[in-house]
Amino acid sequence: MLNPSNKLAIIGCHTKESAFLYPQPSSTDVDDLRPSDGQYELFAKIKNAVNTNVKDLVERGISEEIYTESLIAGAMTMALCCILLKENSETLNIRAMKKQQILEKKLPARILVVTASGDSASQYMNFMNVFFTSQKEGILIDACVIEKDSGLLQQGCDITGGMYLKIQNVAALLQYLLWIFLPSVDTRKKMILPTRVHVDYRAACFCHRNLIEIGYVCSVCLSIFCTFSPICSTCQTAFKLGALPTILSKKKRKQVPLRH
Ligand SMILES: [Zn+2]
Ligand SMILES: [Zn+2]
Repeated sequence: MLNPSNKLAIIGCHTKESAFLYPQPSSTDVDDLRPSDGQYELFAKIKNAVNTNVKDLVERGISEEIYTESLIAGAMTMALCCILLKENSETLNIRAMKKQQILEKKLPARILVVTASGDSASQYMNFMNVFFTSQKEGILIDACVIEKDSGLLQQGCDITGGMYLKIQNVAALLQYLLWIFLPSVDTRKKMILPTRVHVDYRAACFCHRNLIEIGYVCSVCLSIFCTFSPICSTCQTAFKLGALPTILSKKKRKQVPLRH
């Protein structure tokens, strides 16, 4: 409602699926549902669509198998595709424009992640791909997390210049959304916002998906490992190594006695 040209897409995800809640790709529109209480028509439409589609999504997800984590990285990828598709269709309309003008035409898009599922390093690569694509495309990522902190989303917000906020009081969720996440980037600069959290920049090792602070990095493909292995499991590079560093340092110590 802040701008008539603004567009909204809502994507929901659980442990097995990500899906558009609004707008639906195959639109079986519910236009006959008129707002009863003088509510803004678009709001009523969005509310109805979200209500129905959340119910569908949850019902489809019910099964015997229980996975523990939501496919947030997948949902974010869908959001990125949605934004880029919109951008492309807009630039196609203005093909006659010069390249510079097209670059300026980039949509000021944002992704807001609202989650209570916490963190898991098993989607580490997917998250990183989303974060760096967003950074490259100039898309901001905001995160509003409930109860459980997410180190990965902290990194994403930091990389793309977005806001990361852990909600202390769930009853005030709407307040947080309206006052912190709704304003545009330019407006935010003028506001006093909650102080930035210390970003947990640990990376997940490619071998066990554990978050590590110090590890081994393949010099060819930049894969991260928590233990040393002579062959990189990602790109199959074999590393030629000299004498082990511990032995070297002992020899050095013998040769050069310390003076006090
Ligand atoms: Zn490992
Ligand atoms: Zn490698």
